[in-house]
Amino acid sequence: MWMEPTSTIEDDSEALIRLENVSKRYDMNSIIVTALDSVDLQVDEGEFLVVLGPSGSGKTTLLNMIGALDSPTSGDISVAGMNITGAHRKELFAFRRRAVAFIFQSFNLFPGLTALENVQFAIDINKGDRSEAQHVLEEVGLGERERHFPHELSGGEQQRVAIARALATGNPVLLADEPTGELDFRTGVSILELLQEQVKSGKTVLVVTHNREISRVADRVVELSSGRIVSDGPSKGGRAAISDLHW
Ligand code: ADP
Ligand code: MG
Repeated sequence: MWMEPTSTIEDDSEALIRLENVSKRYDMNSIIVTALDSVDLQVDEGEFLVVLGPSGSGKTTLLNMIGALDSPTSGDISVAGMNITGAHRKELFAFRRRAVAFIFQSFNLFPGLTALENVQFAIDINKGDRSEAQHVLEEVGLGERERHFPHELSGGEQQRVAIARALATGNPVLLADEPTGELDFRTGVSILELLQEQVKSGKTVLVVTHNREISRVADRVVELSSGRIVSDGPSKGGRAAISDLHW
């Protein structure tokens, strides 16, 4: 597990991710929007968790909080031994570089950089070994595409580059926000398989989706409704193999 060596705020709980009574409210011209409402959640290292909920239920807000891209209005969050809500900006900067990696629905690749350069960029930020980029692209099945620009790749290939970029950071927690949302079924399935492989290799993977079918592959499904957790446990109807999914 990654630990921030300079952090002064240590967390003694076992869970890799812990949210305690976390709420996020937005004040929209005096109309209060509650994006997250008293959320308690613990995620262990190595879990494959799906957060399931309809549009507007708070999924992205939750993921951004865990990745320290946004801060709660109230409550406490700790990830990988660090109390994010009590941390200084400098500590948060190190945390974002070393603890989490995001994968987005819309891939968010740099259009002017090749697949290889997109991955190298993530490695440079972490001051890692650039030669790893090629290896990680091979790992996601894109060894032959490294000199291609994003617009020369299919949606599924672009998402693979985005996953390679996340893996290249070496960070232990992958946060995926509707990672199959823009992909056709078959391509979406291959992305889920790739994420499942990451769990097998020891990563902790959080996928948020509005698609109940996708949630069937997870170890554990947390359902959100209007910013509240309404259920938390194994997939209803039993866990499914990826090959059994249909959407
Ligand atoms: P989801 O990802 O499940 O679709 P979000 O986390 O994006 O949901 O949003 C949850 C709720 O919070 C929605 O009602 C949304 O409109 C609101 N919200 C999200 N971000 C903001 C913001 N920056 N300002 C105001 N309201 C927001
Ligand atoms: Mg969202």
